[in-house]
Order: sequence, then structure tokens, then C-alpha cells
Amino acid sequence: MFRPEPLNLQETNVDAGRHTSNSQSIEFGPWHISYDVSRILPSMCATKVVCERDDDQFCQFCTYSKELKIPHFPDMVFPKNRLTLAHKSGASINFNPLDALKRVASTVEPVEVSCSEVWMQARPYAEKLKKSFDWTFCTDYKGSISDNITVWETEESIDFELLKQKNQILFYHDLTLFEDELHDHGVSKLSVKIRVMPSYWFVLLRYFLRVDDVLVRSNETRMFHMLNTDYILREYTSKESSAKDLNMPTSHMKEADDVIPFLPVKEKITHKLHFNCSS
Ligand SMILES: [Zn+2]
Repeated sequence: MFRPEPLNLQETNVDAGRHTSNSQSIEFGPWHISYDVSRILPSMCATKVVCERDDDQFCQFCTYSKELKIPHFPDMVFPKNRLTLAHKSGASINFNPLDALKRVASTVEPVEVSCSEVWMQARPYAEKLKKSFDWTFCTDYKGSISDNITVWETEESIDFELLKQKNQILFYHDLTLFEDELHDHGVSKLSVKIRVMPSYWFVLLRYFLRVDDVLVRSNETRMFHMLNTDYILREYTSKESSAKDLNMPTSHMKEADDVIPFLPVKEKITHKLHFNCSS
């Protein structure tokens, strides 16, 4: 039986030149849980001499440009913001902005196709936004999992009553992976929160989109792991409403939590992520 103690909290401040990054980790039974916080992705290549060399060494901007098919990135991408949960069996789960942005459609019909003609006509900038990729950066990313984790659908659900119980929080962090203000006409944001409690850990990955006067959408992935079990429950919920149906002033939905509870569910699916904990 693994016990959550002794608690081993580590903090590292790495000052690599003028760029400071911050990491924190916790040992939780067989888990090593850590996050990194970094600065924003530059808007252009800063090291052309290095990146143009033929040795597969690229700056973050060039890495993103090579890996992603979308022609623009969100205003704020935090390339090294990453949450990692590594099990001693070798299984691991992580949440990072690059994998999330790989799931942004580079060819789909843009969101305004479903929006009113009125909205389009009233906003000249909409033409500028009308590109061949999803400029709302909508992603159904559910986290990146290692190959040795098996996934299947389950009827089991996360025990939300347990999550509500007040208990000692051993570890907590809220990381933004990317954010865009849609030219001041809303918000598109992907963030991930981790909470480690004495008997479990819980992660909420949330994509939140608000296109003012048009629509609100959320794609949320919740992961729950009870200590001393060999699986994680992963619940994915997609919600959406047109602004018209929602009938809520924009000023009342500045925060995702203000509006997500009122959105109708479009898709919900729960998976069991099984890992081998005998090794
Ligand atoms: Zn570069």
C-alpha cells in the first residue's frame, strides 16, 4: 500500500540567463507530480543562426511553426507551461499547449459560419478573422498519455461528492496553456488545474470560448485518481450555447465559472485509463 506521506515538496527556480522558469513537484505515493511555468512564446524567431542550421535545433517559435498547421497562434502561448503526472510504472500523463494546439482544426469552417449574418455585417474585423483555420483555437485536447496506458469507455463516474469534501490540500496549481482575446471580442483560453488531496488527485483541463454576442463553448476534461487503484477516470464534457439562447449579458460571463454551469451539454464521455502498477 502506498501512503501519501512523507510529503516531499520541491521547488526549483531555474534562472537560465534572463528567462526565469519555475517548477514545483510533489511525491504522492507512486506518483511524481510536477509543473513548469514559463514565459510567453515569442512572436518570431530570435535565433535564426541556430534555427537555420541543419541540426534539428530550433527555438520555441520555430518548433511551433514546424509542428502546427495553423497559420497563427494564440496571442499568449506558454510553451513550457506543463503539468506532468508520472507513475513509477512508467505510465505518464501530461498537459501541454503544443499537443493541444495540434488539435485545432487547420481546415474546418470557421465558427462564424454558424453565426448570424448581422454579426458579420456589423463587424468589419470579422472579414479579417475569416480565415481557413479555426481562429477560436477550439481544441478537444484531453491530455497527452503514454503508450503503456490502456483506454476504454466506462459507465463508472467520478465521485463528485468526494471532491466536495473539505480536506487538506497537499498540492494545487492553476496553469494557463494558451489564451487569446479574439481581437477584444471575447476569449479563448486553455488552462489546467491540479489538486492533490490525501487520498486522490484531480485534474481539470478546460478550454473556454466566448465570442461576444455569438456563442459560448467549453470543452472540459476531468481526471480523477484514487490512491492505491490502478486506473484514472477521465470525463470529457463539451458544452455550447449561442448567445441568443443563453440570454445572458457578456458582463455576467467574464469568468468561465460564471457561465459554464448554464451551458447545455453536447457531448459527454467517460474513459478508464488503466496502467500497470505492479512494476
Ligand atoms: Zn527559431
